Amino acid sequence: MIFRNLKGVEKCAYGRGSFAKLGEIIAPKRQDGKGYMLFFVDEYFIDKEEFKQQLPLEANDHLEYIQVEEEPTTQLIDDLRDRYLEKYGVPAGVIGIGGGSVLDVAKATSLMFTNEGSSTRYQGLNLVKRPGIYAVGVPTISGTGAEVSMTAVLTGPEKKLGLKCEWTVLNQIVLDPDLIASVPNDQWFYTGMDCFIHCVESMSGHMKNTFSEAYGYKALEMCQEVFMKLDRKDPKSDEMLMVASYMGGLSLTYSEVGVCHALSYGLSKVLHIHHGLANCIAFNQLEDVYGNHVGDFKFMVEKHKIHFPLNLASQWSDETIDEMVEVAINLEHMWNHAFGPDWQTVLDRKRIKDWYLRM
Ligand code: NAD
Ligand code: ZN
Repeated sequence: MIFRNLKGVEKCAYGRGSFAKLGEIIAPKRQDGKGYMLFFVDEYFIDKEEFKQQLPLEANDHLEYIQVEEEPTTQLIDDLRDRYLEKYGVPAGVIGIGGGSVLDVAKATSLMFTNEGSSTRYQGLNLVKRPGIYAVGVPTISGTGAEVSMTAVLTGPEKKLGLKCEWTVLNQIVLDPDLIASVPNDQWFYTGMDCFIHCVESMSGHMKNTFSEAYGYKALEMCQEVFMKLDRKDPKSDEMLMVASYMGGLSLTYSEVGVCHALSYGLSKVLHIHHGLANCIAFNQLEDVYGNHVGDFKFMVEKHKIHFPLNLASQWSDETIDEMVEVAINLEHMWNHAFGPDWQTVLDRKRIKDWYLRM
């Protein structure tokens, strides 16, 4: 048995219309009108007036739109923290409204308001010294599980690695399926597949256990319903995907990701391909590891007429591929989960390179 003693989110509001309750939810955390709340909102909403009216902004609060073209970097987090700290002091809380990127920005800045120096110092497991400030997450796209996970993934000068500790977990989440309806189809699929792949990977490896399987099987079943059966316009679809993302994230927390995520990290670190898309590019080639699940994936791509690039490897230099292989092979915990403690007997640089060459 692996031993884990994990912290979950403290409070979770779920249901259509629950976003309208955000003001009420955060009110007790306001410091008698003296403090301020810092809102991080995905740039997609910058010109969405109806959405803006729903934001429970009060006089002292600040709103910062986050560009997510690039996944969050340690530099972005340090800059945000330094700027707000210098001008306005420590906020009463941070509220991230957006996808995995914005949720990670909220999680990471919450920690960096109370921990000194650059966030690069804290990339890794249990390196953070002090709990962060009150942090709320409101997902507007579902699949990453960032809303429940213990990690805030950041790209730094040296590594793409999470700040991972129990204080990274959000204090409050608000899951409102209405918010994810506007996500464009391809993006809906890429991020949704992150959840599907979390389930497949967490349950096909050595770290799996009854706890992770309970969440994983249920989330996998819901992903199959959403992507293989339902029409996206069916209201059940967004409602299920939002819960599947949450449960897929929990499944992962009690287990580990595997081969697809290791390869995907290489694609993101070296070529800056976004997490969901990178996962799709990698998973598509992993029939030798994930069997029928890859067949299901191909069926779903076909059903929803999803576009993602193929034959990428023909444009990659040998150095680029080798660089990705190095990123991937160093993710030992993932290989350990996927193939067991003797993973080095079944995996070497050549096998990893062969997977990249197929993409
Ligand atoms: P994202 O946050 O990068 O957003 C993807 C795109 O969707 C963006 O263009 C965004 O503007 C758009 N978008 C978001 N909400 C929308 C809406 N309601 N309508 C229209 N467009 C909308 O996407 P993601 O896939 O959720 O997150 C990926 C990020 O999450 C990566 O940075 C990855 O490293 C991180 N991640 C974190 C964890 C974790 O546990 N912390 C797990 C997996 C991935
Ligand atoms: Zn993932």
